[in-house]
Parts: sequence; C-alpha cells; structure tokens
Amino acid sequence: LTQLFRPLDLLGFVYRTIRQGLIDMAAMFRLMDADVEVEDAPGAPALQIKEPGITFENVHFGYDEDRQILHGLDFEIRAGETVALVGPSGAGKSTIARLLFRFYDPSAGRILIDGQDIAQVQQESLRASIGIVPQDSVLFNDTIGYNIAYGRANADEDDVREAARGAAILPFIEALPEGFDTQVGERGLKLSGGEKQRVAIARTLLKDPPIVILDEATSALDSRTEQEILATLNRVARGRTTLAIAHRLSTIADADRILVLEHGRLAEQGHHADLLRRDGLYAEMWMRQQAEQVEATD
Ligand code: ATP
Repeated sequence: LTQLFRPLDLLGFVYRTIRQGLIDMAAMFRLMDADVEVEDAPGAPALQIKEPGITFENVHFGYDEDRQILHGLDFEIRAGETVALVGPSGAGKSTIARLLFRFYDPSAGRILIDGQDIAQVQQESLRASIGIVPQDSVLFNDTIGYNIAYGRANADEDDVREAARGAAILPFIEALPEGFDTQVGERGLKLSGGEKQRVAIARTLLKDPPIVILDEATSALDSRTEQEILATLNRVARGRTTLAIAHRLSTIADADRILVLEHGRLAEQGHHADLLRRDGLYAEMWMRQQAEQVEATD
C-alpha cells in the first residue's frame, strides 16, 4: 500500500507546490528529488518575522544516509545582512539553500529564522517569507506581464510596472510592440539568460519577502550585463536578509560577510580583504579566478 501512496503523496506535493506558485524554485531545487516526508507538524504555527535573522545550529545533512554532505554547520546571518556563500563545486552551497527553503530537513541540528525552528512552522508561511532569484528562471508560456505578476497574487498593473522598473527590464518591455502583453516562453519571445533573470528579480521585488536567496548564474554574462544585473540584485538585497550563492568571486567582494564552504564544512568566514590576508582557500580561489580572467582577456 505504501508503494501506492508514495507516488500519490508526491503528486499532491507537486500540485501544492505549483499552486503556491513555486514552479521556479522547483526548477532550482529539482523538486522531484525533494523528500515528501517533509510535512507540517500537527498544529504548526505560522512563522512570525520581526527580525529576519537566520541561524544554522550544528546542521548535519545527507541526501542518502550513507553519504553525509553537511557536517555540523554553525553560522548566523543577522537581520538585514548580505552574506555570500562560496566554495568549490559540490561543497554544499545549493544544499544549504534547499534546507533553508525546507525541501529537506537536517538529519541533526536546527535551522532557525527569527528564533523559530523552521521544521516547526507552517511551510507555506516559511516559503512566503523567502524569495529566490534562481540562476536559470523558468518562464510560463504566457505574457511577460503574467510572468512578473505571479510574484504576488493581488498585484495590479502599476505594481508590475514598478517591479519591472526596479529590475531594470521596463525599457526592454516597453520597446516590445505588445509591451507587457508579449507572449514569452517556448511559443513566444525567447528571452536571454540576463532578461530571464531580470524577470525573476521583478517577481521577487513584487513578492517583497524579508529574506532573499540569490543564486548567481554560473554562465558568464558579458561584463556590462553582469554589472547591470549586479546593480539590480543589490537593489533586491537592500533592506532584506540575503544569502547570495556566488560562483564568481568578483561579484561578491562587497558582501557584508563571506562564508567559505569546503566539503560541507565552514572553512573560513570574514570580509573579502580579511580572507585574502588569511591566504587560505578563499585567497586561492580568488587568485585562480583572477588568473582565468586575465587569460580570457588575452
Ligand atoms: P555547485 O557550485 O557545483 O552548484 P554546490 O556547492 O551548490 O555545487 P550542492 O549542489 O549543494 O553543491 O551539492 C553538494 C553535494 O550533494 C554534491 O556532492 C552533490 O552530488 C550532492 N547532491 C546534490 N543534490 C543531490 C540529490 N538530489 N541527491 C543526491 N545527492 C545530491
């Protein structure tokens, strides 16, 4: 019987997630892999946020029991702080984002938002409090206006325009013959990676969550586009608690703090300049990326 219920459970989970407008995160977090065992505790209260600080307390986690990915992570992100998460590929950066969004529960330890254990609050209230700008946004086969508006259920035209302005995509949309009514996606206008990311930024501005996870694109954008995107991402981060997963270190040198992850452990943390002085993993990654950049320009 359980064999029958598991797929049904999964379908229910997928349905609820789509209904909550989380398709985007689904793409980022490989929804189908998510553990359907993650359920609201009976009578779980809604998350109440006054000061949106985040605390990881001795968090252990593995997707499979025999392979641990995170080995006792302890860190804090204070309310309003922008913290960048860096580290080699496979270190566990996206896993941390998935746990924060509670697609999985830690195998030991706790994750707190404003002092409340996220495993003990309603998932819907948790997910309503967190905005995600994924590295590769999925667009609906609908108008560009709809794709922005679904960031918030009751948004009106002015709100959508303002969000588009904030995400620096308004001039682009206004130059289209059908403006916000332009069809996008597979059957419509194909948007570039940078344009899609701006749509995701506009959605997040509209959702206006106290906590934001930014997942920086791995693919290199040209440097002007990158500068423009960075400026809009900084706008999203302003006044919110922000966790920025970064692949290119040049984009996060201004973060309030940088957490350096290695094999699921916190190897170093501090400001860019402190970390360079330490001459450890961060400094090594920085030097390597600088050298790669020089090579690319040559
Ligand atoms: P990158 O910089 O390449 O995106 P990352 O630091 O974000 O890497 P994660 O995606 O968190 O790394 O992955 C950490 C480890 O967990 C990797 O070894 C990966 O193979 C493993 N992993 C990730 N997702 C799953 C999954 N759904 N099932 C099993 N293992 C997974």
